[in-house]
Formats: sequence, structure tokens, C-alpha cells
Amino acid sequence: MKSKVYFIDFHTTFQRSIFDKIGDALSQAGFKDTIREHDKVAIKLHFGAETNFCVINPRYVRYFVDSILALDAKPFLTDTNTLYAGQRVNSIDHTNLAIRHGYVRSVVNAPVIIADGLAGQSEEVVKIDTKETKEAYIGSDIHHADAILALTHMTGHEATGFGAAIKNIGMGCASRKGKLAMHSLSRPSVNHDRCLGCARCVQWCQVNAISIKESGKAHIDEELCAGCSMCISVCPFNAIRIKWNASSEFLNTKITEYALAVTSHKKDKIFYVTFLNNITRLCDCANIHGEYLVPDIGILFSKDIVAIDRASIDLINEKAGKNLFKELYPDIPWENIFSYAEKLGMGSSDYELVKIK
Ligand code: SF4
Ligand code: SF4
Repeated sequence: MKSKVYFIDFHTTFQRSIFDKIGDALSQAGFKDTIREHDKVAIKLHFGAETNFCVINPRYVRYFVDSILALDAKPFLTDTNTLYAGQRVNSIDHTNLAIRHGYVRSVVNAPVIIADGLAGQSEEVVKIDTKETKEAYIGSDIHHADAILALTHMTGHEATGFGAAIKNIGMGCASRKGKLAMHSLSRPSVNHDRCLGCARCVQWCQVNAISIKESGKAHIDEELCAGCSMCISVCPFNAIRIKWNASSEFLNTKITEYALAVTSHKKDKIFYVTFLNNITRLCDCANIHGEYLVPDIGILFSKDIVAIDRASIDLINEKAGKNLFKELYPDIPWENIFSYAEKLGMGSSDYELVKIK
């Protein structure tokens, strides 16, 4: 049987607002069946890089928060810290950035809780038996949430071809250790030009893999290093670097496997909403927008993570009048995501698009 994906466009009238349309779509797609009274509901989204404003407008987010509150459940907005240094590398900076982007209580009516703790150290190990992943490292507060609402802003992506619900869940729910396992085949190393020998990283390393050498610079023993990447977030001088040496194919495989690790624990407790607006070549981690690739299309709703991603691609290609992502990233085998996710039993690319006026 085909999976259902519900669709609304952004066209509104004086009689029918965008919230009326979202409400109807949630209702027809069976959103309330995924939430029970008192559930702690993780609304997984991306707060955007410092100067990226393409992300989901907080006023939309408020509507989803209020819809969850109306079911007597407890929503919170969440994301995990980044692998690399920047404004989302620890929970304090990350939360402050969310506030600067308007995700404040008075607007969104829910708290922001970064799921993997102060320095990205708070994770749960999920065992799965897939090609590249036997243990996945997931941000604790997402893992322990009773339900997830994945609010995804669809974009292109320079390493994976596109970023939609599978990436929002697979990469976006991983702790820093999980992100390193996806992005890199090596351990972090120290850039001696930047290191001031302050030893902060030494104090944080749980396995004593870092020492300060006679040169006054830190050194990471690769044999001891467990790849948690904590040192990256605690170095005040951005002196710990990562080798981004995973291939796009490997990255997409890992992201799909991590998405399985998150979703397999939440059967029937995840709902997906994907925004097809402000669609750019680069993802929302980029501090530059670039031009919008197609006019805004609409919003998709589904319980099937594979179907909603396939429908997102198809609607964008239809609007562009060509296979846009193939043209943008001809060397990235991004379509493999769909066949692999189906093989893992995560959903179906065969979907029925239900258009709601
Ligand atoms: S925290 Fe950074 S600057 Fe300090 S010793 Fe470690 S790598 Fe060097
Ligand atoms: S990534 Fe390695 S060196 Fe850095 S804190 Fe973790 S275990 Fe220690």
C-alpha cells in the first residue's frame, strides 16, 4: 500500500489562513494519533547558522507547539550541538543563537532544550545491526522523549546532495561522537598554530588521550582517543580540527542508519512536517543564503520518513522542470538513500500525494 503524504501550498485567502490549512493537514494525516497525554514531545528542528534566516519561521513553530499543548502533552524545541566550532557548538551558545533567531518563549511558547547536553557529552548508545553502524550515539533528550515531531526545512547539501527529514533525524539527532563517526574516518588532531597549551581539553578528555607536550602544545594519542569529539567543543581557540574525509556515499549511508537508530525506538511516535520554502543550494548550517533555487512550494505532512523525502524531491523537481539536485550535485549518489532506507524497513518511496486546498 502506498504511504500517504499530505500537501498544502502557501496560497491563502481572507477566509482561509495558512494555519487553517496546516490544521486540516495535521488532522487528515493523523498527527494526534502519534501523541498521548503527558508525552514529552521533542520538536526537532534547525535554528540556523548565525546569518542564515532560511529556517522555519518561529510563528509556524508556535502553531505546532500549541497543537501539541492542546493534546495535553509537553513540547520542547530541540537540536544537537555541532561537530565543528561555531555558534552551535555548546548548549549555551546554541540556545542563545536560537533566541537571537526568535525562538523565544513569548513567540514559540515552549522551551529550547539542546538534546546532547552542555558540551555535547550527553548521549545514549543505540545498538543496531546495519552495514556501517553497530552502535549509534543519539542525543539523550531526543532518545528519551516519548514522541518526536520532525520539523524539517528542505535544502540542498554540499556533502549529501539534499537535506530533508532523513538528514534532520539521522544527523540532527546524533551526539557529537555520532557526528564524528559519520563525517570522519579519523580521530581529531591539534592545530599547533592555534593551540596555546591551556589544557582545557586535557581536563575534559574522559580517556586521558590528550597531553601537553614539552613544546607547550596539546597532543592527541589516536590509540587512546575514543572519538567523542568533546575536545572540539571545549577548546576556546578552535585549535582541534577534524578531517572531513568520509565520502558522500558513506555519509549518506551512515545518516540513514542513524535515522533508523532514532526512529526504530519511536514506532508510531514520530510525525514529519517538511517545509519547501527558501530552498537553497547549501544547508542551513551555512552562513550564506545563496539564491533561492525555486519559488516557495508548500508544506508536507506524513508519518513516513522515506515517502516525505521522496515527495519533497519530486515536488521541487516538478517546480524546477528538471532533476535539480542531480544537476546541482551530479557526483553525489544521493538517490541511494531511498533504496537503502526502504531496505532497512524505514518506509516507502511509493507514495500518494494528497493535496489539501
Ligand atoms: S583546549 Fe585548545 S588551546 Fe587549550 S590545550 Fe587544548 S587544544 Fe590547546
Ligand atoms: S575526541 Fe578523543 S581526544 Fe578528544 S576528548 Fe574525545 S576521546 Fe579525548
